[in-house]
Amino acid sequence: MLRLSLRGVTDDRHAFMKVTFLGAAGAVTGSKYLVELGGRRVLIDCGLFQGLKRLRERNWQPLPFDPRSLDAVLLTHAHIDHSGYLPVLVRAGYQGPVYCTDATRRLLSLMLPDSARLQEEEAEYANRHRFSKHSPALPLYTEADARTALQRLHPISLPSQIALFTDVQASFSRAGHLLGAASIRLESHGERLLFSGDLGRTHDPLMRAPAPPPAADWVVIESTYGDRVHSPLDPETELAAHLSRALARGGVVIVPTFAIGRAQLLLHLIRRMKEKHAIPDVPVYLNSPMAEDATPLYLDYPEEHRLNAVELAAMTQVAHFVTGVEESKSLNRRSGPMIILAASGMATGGRVVHHLKAFAPDSRNMILFTGYQAAGTRGAAMLAGTESIKCHGEWVPVRAEIVQLHGTSSHADYHGLIAWLAASPGPPRRVFVTHGEPAAADALRQHLRRALELEVTVPEQGESFAST
Ligand SMILES: [Zn+2]
Repeated sequence: MLRLSLRGVTDDRHAFMKVTFLGAAGAVTGSKYLVELGGRRVLIDCGLFQGLKRLRERNWQPLPFDPRSLDAVLLTHAHIDHSGYLPVLVRAGYQGPVYCTDATRRLLSLMLPDSARLQEEEAEYANRHRFSKHSPALPLYTEADARTALQRLHPISLPSQIALFTDVQASFSRAGHLLGAASIRLESHGERLLFSGDLGRTHDPLMRAPAPPPAADWVVIESTYGDRVHSPLDPETELAAHLSRALARGGVVIVPTFAIGRAQLLLHLIRRMKEKHAIPDVPVYLNSPMAEDATPLYLDYPEEHRLNAVELAAMTQVAHFVTGVEESKSLNRRSGPMIILAASGMATGGRVVHHLKAFAPDSRNMILFTGYQAAGTRGAAMLAGTESIKCHGEWVPVRAEIVQLHGTSSHADYHGLIAWLAASPGPPRRVFVTHGEPAAADALRQHLRRALELEVTVPEQGESFAST
């Protein structure tokens, strides 16, 4: 195996198999892997950098390769940190196909325009209130850019195997983490390179477990929770205890939630808790038009999740779906007890930021995080005990109770990641650990070495590796 500098990437198109880590290396965000095999160039994932400013600034830097030189793009799943850079890639000249599962395509048709609208709104808000250092503040891409990118999507079923080119095959297998989420294996001339994508949990209450991995020579595996074991408490018990405590004191519970996946899981759990009288019968608001649009998609992919049609219907009835902006604002004038679910899940943008401005200063209230909070996000700051957060240019005191649920995570813990790799038909020659903060990635490296005696590398941003 050769370790190459980034400069070597464009020079050597005939390396048998080469991978360059252009994102999610030393961080959980911006997933992008450039693969060269069989004389072709393929990009696996095309994610936006989110969180820390030094990471977000990478979204504005030119890519270290010409997008027109790519032969194909493949997406593991629809989350923006795996897909949200696609409009920039297409605007920069990429004209080829973007392969993804059918559910991913349908989620992206909601998420990419939404991502663009958020950026346009933030730029417009910054310009109106003049708090940006850039004048005028610009969005990274517009809704029109997002819609152009959507035209490049080629949906495939899950699981499936396709011939990308005459001598390059790609297979997609279920990753469990989100509707449509897949692990992707590329194969050419007997060399096999597997990307785990984001892996879900074996016993997730909503999604089915990831499929066992196919055989591979190299595996690129995520490590979001490479240093953690999830609470053995069932998420319903954990959630009921927190909600009951806040609601009993008349508090408002703000749940920053990813519109797709966590929102549906929470609605399902809240419906079950209400039915069992495990929590008081308070009003529940889902303030995310995208979550409302995504919920019916679950009906079309029953093999990917655990809910039947009756449970799906009941889930949609437990909350009042807030649509208009005026109705969203009016929630901020109400008092508790009530529960508000609103995007985004790390409180980096969206309607939840307005709710935080209204409710974070009151100690009766609760802010309940249900998923991973990347470094640099308002979510991570609140979990670290910050006394104030900056929202739309003004500092807002945080006196509400801050809670993190681990039982609702959509990522496997390190036991799950080890078990997934151990289920492979044979050990890979090398494993690359990505998509984790440095401590989590390094912890998983050590666990994999110890438990499975594998050769493990934690690549750095921009590093390349080639087979010899
Ligand atoms: Zn994800």
